[in-house]
Amino acid sequence: MIILGIESTCDETGAAILKIVEKEDGQMNVKVLANIISSQIKKHKKFGGVVPQLAAKLHQKNFIPVLEEALQTAKINLPAGGVKDLDKIDLICVAKGPGLIPALLAGVSAAKTLAWGLKKPLVGVNHMEGHIVSSLLETKLKVKSEKLKVFEMPALALLVSGGHTQLVLIESWLRYKILGETRDDAAGEAYDKVAKMLGLGYPGGARIEELAKIGNSKAFNFPRPMEKSGDYDFSFSGLKTSVKYTLDSLKLKLKVLPSVRNTYISDIAASFQAAVIDVLVSKTIRAAQEYKIKTLIIGGGVSINQELRRQLKKSLNKNLPKVKFLAPEKEYSNDNAAMIALAGYFRFKSGEISDWEKVQTEAKLRLK
Ligand code: ZN
Repeated sequence: MIILGIESTCDETGAAILKIVEKEDGQMNVKVLANIISSQIKKHKKFGGVVPQLAAKLHQKNFIPVLEEALQTAKINLPAGGVKDLDKIDLICVAKGPGLIPALLAGVSAAKTLAWGLKKPLVGVNHMEGHIVSSLLETKLKVKSEKLKVFEMPALALLVSGGHTQLVLIESWLRYKILGETRDDAAGEAYDKVAKMLGLGYPGGARIEELAKIGNSKAFNFPRPMEKSGDYDFSFSGLKTSVKYTLDSLKLKLKVLPSVRNTYISDIAASFQAAVIDVLVSKTIRAAQEYKIKTLIIGGGVSINQELRRQLKKSLNKNLPKVKFLAPEKEYSNDNAAMIALAGYFRFKSGEISDWEKVQTEAKLRLK
């Protein structure tokens, strides 16, 4: 089966083509034939964040070239590839939310037009479900015939990105319970805001991670917000304020001693990152223990962070050594259309097809 995935929830325009081969013995091969992403980061950079109307305009401008490149790369009709391959597509899946409405509209309208024109089934996908299944891309899955069961349940997913921080429990296939989420800034958003304060530019997550490697994570004792709150919610806004106060108090020193400035910046980056990771890891492990999970999944742009992965694995090995850890490849951690295609395919397999007219954007769509 050939599946086209479309992603436009925020500032990445994505088109992906998946080939899924189901075998009689219940094995399933998930092959990504193309995963094309056109990032708008450079265009939003001067505004210090994503501007919804600009995002929508760029999605519209970029979608056709991105789709064409996906078809070229996938070469469904060897060796030519290209737009005439559109008729080889069996299923179209589009992220319908959560996200920025102007951005979502661009992808959803394109998907509806294609579904109508090509007379192909269409599935509207929850973008967060895409992140949950992103670690299954490019893998061989074992599928129990009547019910898809690709990982052992109960499973827990930690979804961390610039837009979201959620802990999601999966007790049965395609059924979700949000155990907790951020009450203010998402983890990735806090990274970006702190990076801006430190003069590291936007987006700053990767830069902070880099500096944290050389900095001393114990140099500043930043708060671990809500670590002991007893629930699974997060809050990163206070931590960001604490970094600001620390920077203010160091201002004089940073001016007088420019030579030690870089050391301070690296130490703040390392101490800030340690605080974020401590909270994420301790809440995730506590939920994992409470719900006796068998699989831990991470996803989202912040899940690329190597220190976060290392700390999670370390704590898992110590506390719950039998739990299986699933993490996506870097390419599939950030927003992408391949994960949307796979999530949509699973929905399709469980009998969910939407009439193209009925697929609507939902800015605040929630997993349930
Ligand atoms: Zn995302």
